[in-house]
Amino acid sequence: MLWRYGYRSPTTTSALVQAMINTYLNLYSTVTHWGSVEELSASLNFTEIVGQDTAAYLASQGVGDAYAYEIVEASTRVNYAQNLDKIHALEGMCSMASDGAMSIKGGNYQVFENFIRESKASLHLNTHVTALESKSAGRWQLTASKNGAAPFTEEYDAVILAAPYDSLAMTLPSSAEPVTPAPYVHLHVTLLATTSPSASAEYFNQAPGTSVPAMVLTTAQGIRAGKPAPEFNSLSYHRQLTNGEWIVKIFSMQRVEDDWLLKVFGNVGWVYRKVWDAYPQLPPTAKFNPMKLDKNLYYVNGFETFISTMETETIASRGVVDLMLREMFDEGICPSGVSEPPPEGVDFVWGWDC
Ligand SMILES: Cc1cc2nc3c(=O)[nH]c(=O)nc-3n(C[C@H](O)[C@H](O)[C@H](O)COP(=O)(O)OP(=O)(O)OC[C@H]3O[C@@H](n4cnc5c(N)ncnc54)[C@H](O)[C@@H]3O)c2cc1C
Repeated sequence: MLWRYGYRSPTTTSALVQAMINTYLNLYSTVTHWGSVEELSASLNFTEIVGQDTAAYLASQGVGDAYAYEIVEASTRVNYAQNLDKIHALEGMCSMASDGAMSIKGGNYQVFENFIRESKASLHLNTHVTALESKSAGRWQLTASKNGAAPFTEEYDAVILAAPYDSLAMTLPSSAEPVTPAPYVHLHVTLLATTSPSASAEYFNQAPGTSVPAMVLTTAQGIRAGKPAPEFNSLSYHRQLTNGEWIVKIFSMQRVEDDWLLKVFGNVGWVYRKVWDAYPQLPPTAKFNPMKLDKNLYYVNGFETFISTMETETIASRGVVDLMLREMFDEGICPSGVSEPPPEGVDFVWGWDC
């Protein structure tokens, strides 16, 4: 690593990422209320890095091209399926911040299941909202259908849209602030089982028997040199099952066909494919979709073009709920005064400890 990239590029990148994380952590304590993503970005001093691509930002900070286009780009491609010169620098830095990531034993979905359970909200699964209409006294009427059955309507005091606007398949009322469609990355995820302990060395033009790493990431350097795009973004061996098979996950921009899998792994047991609209395209920007669309009508997913993760969507949701409570009851999530900076050294999470 030191031989190829020197000392300065890795340490500078690591310092930039740490500075970004330290600033971001203010969202848990001191930066508690914002009316728009632009306002939040400015209050965290992120406007400049969101406004430039990661390649330009790293170059401006003295990070060498080799490190930027090989190490950081491999991260932006595995995390966001986007190249270094196309993704804004805040998200580029987030791509490098996954070290030490933790997960819940049994699946992260339990976090959200418990949010629902603790909130005591009524959950309507498999229910598609098809229309939204404003009614008298500032109320909103939703039209929805459960499992494709006949539509029903329900009225609410306030509505929070918490899905990417483009996927809602719903027309907003004409009184609402317009939402600009944010194109999402169409990502092919392939999970498979194989008894091969690693991918084929021959596929990677290595001598037979050469050991292939358990995780292979890609860059766009070949494309820049006029060569074909890599056939996948990332390929990772996850774990071995008790029957001896290995579970492998592949992210790619196109479907990887069965014959390709056979060529790369030699033998393949089951294959599971899923195409996701995974995350928005994240070009440098100064503008985000509004959080408040109308009186008592809010939108969470404008935050996704700022930072796209489960954790930040949770923060965005907290911000939207705070905005809604202020509008409806003149009081945010925490009582007035609590949003002052907590005393130094106190373990305090705003909205959790108040
Ligand atoms: C393959 C992949 C890997 C990822 N890896 C990570 C990772 O490692 N870490 C991380 O933090 N993030 C990761 N993400 C991103 C993360 O999943 C998103 O940032 C997050 O799910 C966004 O949450 P959300 O609640 O805003 O939207 P979503 O999770 O998209 O939830 C929106 C919900 O609304 C529902 N919905 C849509 N339209 C309607 C309608 N009209 N009526 C009713 N319901 C509707 C949808 O069915 C969906 O359940 C990954 C995403 C993908 C696809």
